[in-house]
Amino acid sequence: MISNAEFTAAAEELGFGRVYFLPVDDIPTPYVKLVSSPKALLPGAKTLILLIMPYELTDDGGCREGVISPYYKVSQKAYKGVKFLEKKLIDSGAQAVCNANIPLKAAIVKYDIGVQRLNSLTYINGIGSAFHIQNIITDIAFEYSRIDRSLSVTDCSKCLHCLRACPSGAISTTGFVDPNRCLRFVSELKQIPAEFENNLGNKLLGCDECQKACPHNMVAKTNAQFAYPLEKLLKGDLGELPELIGTNLARKTRMICKACVLAANNNRTDLLPLIRELEKSSDTYISAAARRAMERLEVIT
Ligand code: SF4
Ligand code: SF4
Repeated sequence: MISNAEFTAAAEELGFGRVYFLPVDDIPTPYVKLVSSPKALLPGAKTLILLIMPYELTDDGGCREGVISPYYKVSQKAYKGVKFLEKKLIDSGAQAVCNANIPLKAAIVKYDIGVQRLNSLTYINGIGSAFHIQNIITDIAFEYSRIDRSLSVTDCSKCLHCLRACPSGAISTTGFVDPNRCLRFVSELKQIPAEFENNLGNKLLGCDECQKACPHNMVAKTNAQFAYPLEKLLKGDLGELPELIGTNLARKTRMICKACVLAANNNRTDLLPLIRELEKSSDTYISAAARRAMERLEVIT
């Protein structure tokens, strides 16, 4: 059977920064869509493996194209990586289930790997909150990891930087993040509600503002953020987006509609000719998004 060291080396080669081998306990959750008991998913399970893939938060202020949070690129990479590792375990004669629908935030807290802070995100020592997490449940009896329990729970009430930085007022003083106001979820909608158009700024997909404002995270002062040209999106040219963020999120209609919103947010009057053409589209979502962008942009010109 594969050893801890062999598995960890394979995971690190795929870009995972931390690997935790944990006992298979129930992880209580109030969310009915999640499964509390890993053993319900794999009877005979002996180890829950949590795999952490960190990403770099970058300063994207001033960019007038469609900024995509690095979270999405990393989550695609982690998903492919965990499928590879699951196959590796199965090929070695073990049973394994990856990407199980278990409560991962709760697992991080339960096993003392990290703490949950006011922005509702979990933080891991030496990494912060900018990471994607994957999991494998297996019947291999791996040696359990020794956990560094030195991460202290911060009194967020003395800080509130994330609450103030949130563009859409999604974070409450009690640490509840309203998913209907959070731009990470709003940016994934097919139609952006008018109330949130301006809040989105240059965000094509995702939002990292509460993470960037947090003193427990590092923000790189580089231009390494991933931004997709709005002109290409308005022309329906998605390029490598389906590969990078997944076909579900990179649907053409959705991307064109969001490009219309972002063009107006960023005063891209240079894109008006393309938007006027889209207003004639037979797709009612696209024609409505283009009309709305024209109204907003033509007020500017
Ligand atoms: S991800 Fe963005 S919108 Fe959501 S809570 Fe954080 S700052 Fe607010
Ligand atoms: S920004 Fe401040 S209040 Fe928000 S999670 Fe970080 S430490 Fe807590």
